[in-house]
Amino acid sequence: MSAANGRNHRRIIILGSGPAGLTAAIYAGRANLKPMVLAGNEPGGQLTLTTDVENYPGYPDGIQGPEMMDQFRAQAERFEAEFVSGHVISVNLKQRPFSLGIESGTDLSCDALIVATGASARWLGLESETELRGRGVSACATCDGFFFRDRVVGVVGGGDTAMEEALFLTKFASNVNVIHRRSELRASKIMQDRAFNNEKINFIWDSVVDEVLSDDGSAVRGVRVRNVKKDEMTNLDLGGLFIAIGHTPNTAIFSDQLDMNSEGYINTLLPGTHTSVEGVFACGDAADSIYRQAVTAAGTGCMAAIDAERWLSINE
Ligand code: NAP
Repeated sequence: MSAANGRNHRRIIILGSGPAGLTAAIYAGRANLKPMVLAGNEPGGQLTLTTDVENYPGYPDGIQGPEMMDQFRAQAERFEAEFVSGHVISVNLKQRPFSLGIESGTDLSCDALIVATGASARWLGLESETELRGRGVSACATCDGFFFRDRVVGVVGGGDTAMEEALFLTKFASNVNVIHRRSELRASKIMQDRAFNNEKINFIWDSVVDEVLSDDGSAVRGVRVRNVKKDEMTNLDLGGLFIAIGHTPNTAIFSDQLDMNSEGYINTLLPGTHTSVEGVFACGDAADSIYRQAVTAAGTGCMAAIDAERWLSINE
């Protein structure tokens, strides 16, 4: 392997600083690889948008998402991971060392690359939705459903994710209103059947959320929905609103260089985190459309660092 030992060359670069990237950084740091971590557009990843995290093992009293990510980062820094802000705007994986262009104008190169760029939940784009995120508006029922015990909640979307979120929420909520913009679901037949057969789930068809309502911006109290066929507005009392209109993996920059599925999630070769390009490893939500949990992202981040370390030791 050509080792361009210049100032901007690293043996290993990790893209992304959510649970996957930071866990990869801890493991790569402890393997003495002195990883560089490019923190990306959303430093700390999606957990920085949530409040209480109660399902990550080891925190019996729960922890705030941003605080947890600070702790991950501090742990990675303890093992000499180097953090750089900003994100990658160009990448060449066709020859080694791999080269990366950073938005600041800096060019970097590396022998091994770990892609942990995550995925971003899609949002409706309403101002009131942004304001009330973490105050009753969420994009993750697994993370936040527990806080809505005996409340009436809404789920926006008509795909498998929306059905899964709605079904999960019936464990806690007294009632779940699925608000969908058409009169038929996109979800698979089996998920539709499960949702239709659950007596706690109610469907509000042909409707879009026009505004998320609150009294003083501190908590959701309902939504104003617009029936798109009748162009009529109705207010609905809700204690929480889950947006389930899909996720977008942050992988566009690799689209012509790494194998991906039709939705843009990076394909990894099982078992492990190897991608279609030797020396490039993918972990976390960028390569996972199914589980999307902090703990699974951390697990695959660990795997990616181990895979990269072994690959470097054989190839260097
Ligand atoms: P999806 O299939 O793309 O569905 C997104 C849903 O959100 C659609 O019903 C869409 O409406 C609606 N939507 C999109 N933008 C909207 C907007 N701006 N306002 C209102 N509604 C909007 O996404 P997904 O449900 O996340 O699923 C993604 C993939 O993962 C799918 O292939 C799915 O099968 C898979 N998945 C599978 C499972 C499972 O099998 N258990 C679980 C989760 C996900 P329209 O229908 O009108 O377009």
